[in-house]
Amino acid sequence: MQKREVASIGVIIEREFQRYKRKEWGLVFAIAQICFYLYILPEIGQRTWPIVLDLMKQYDLQKWQIAFINTCFYNTFLYFFINFCFWIIYHIEHPFFEQYKIYDGQWPWKEDLNEWKELLRKSYTVVGINNFIVIPIAQMIVTIKDDYQVRYSFEMEDLPDWKTILWQILFSMWIQDFFFTASHWLLHKPFFYKKIHKLHHQYNQTIGFSAEYTHPFEFLFGNAIPFIIPAVILGQRMHYYTYIIWGTHRILNTVILHSGYDFPWLPNDMCLFYSNAQYHDYHHSHNVGNFGGMFSIWDTLIGTNHTYYKYIDERINVKNKQQKAD
Ligand SMILES: [Zn+2]
Ligand SMILES: [Zn+2]
Repeated sequence: MQKREVASIGVIIEREFQRYKRKEWGLVFAIAQICFYLYILPEIGQRTWPIVLDLMKQYDLQKWQIAFINTCFYNTFLYFFINFCFWIIYHIEHPFFEQYKIYDGQWPWKEDLNEWKELLRKSYTVVGINNFIVIPIAQMIVTIKDDYQVRYSFEMEDLPDWKTILWQILFSMWIQDFFFTASHWLLHKPFFYKKIHKLHHQYNQTIGFSAEYTHPFEFLFGNAIPFIIPAVILGQRMHYYTYIIWGTHRILNTVILHSGYDFPWLPNDMCLFYSNAQYHDYHHSHNVGNFGGMFSIWDTLIGTNHTYYKYIDERINVKNKQQKAD
């Protein structure tokens, strides 16, 4: 079992400073993207939401039916689409992307194609079960007290402006990640690890598609319910359009986190104490600490990420020595 070690405030600030510094030009691009999304998303809402309301009227669709279409079909499509984009990146092996590859070795399909095909086949089944069975169950569980009705607003006048989108997404990220990290920490207790979480760790090198390759029990209590909790807390204050943005953000984030690449231009990385793809890759490759999904601060508070920071320092030292030698 890992020995815990809590860092001092000075060390925590220094680590964050170094994390931003390593991004170099990526910081500017990340800020530009945030501004772009905050400008474009309210605009898209104003233009597309009347179409959704018209369709609901035309086909007599209830709110829960829209929620079902979104959570099952749109989210699954999005998951496959992002993974398809990564599949292209994995296969073209362009130096521009390869410079950000975390793992030094070969991709699993190059190491053992048959073993990879078997794992991929199992992954399709598990991802299918999680998206089409577990997500609707999670949606039902959290709406029991409201007679399975969706409480979020669907009204045109409640469509969010950029400030509402910003605070509600940040709020959702922090609440979701608190519950995710707590359940992830619990899943690493020997009993739960052996019975449930070991499945997700079959991928000891992260690949985008491994993100939702989790035991359905884990997906329900560690992923789907923590994802819905912030929206349930916000209730009618959250417009369903914002909920769709939150879902899109969550899926994009989890696939990027498992992608095996640590790109410096990602907007999420601008958040204080953000845990990036390298952070989660370390969790898979070393299977020690780093339980946080979006934020590293939970691990910092309970002292379960100090070995990761030592590992990062060593990697940077080796890289610097290599550059000097060249
Ligand atoms: Zn784990
Ligand atoms: Zn993972």
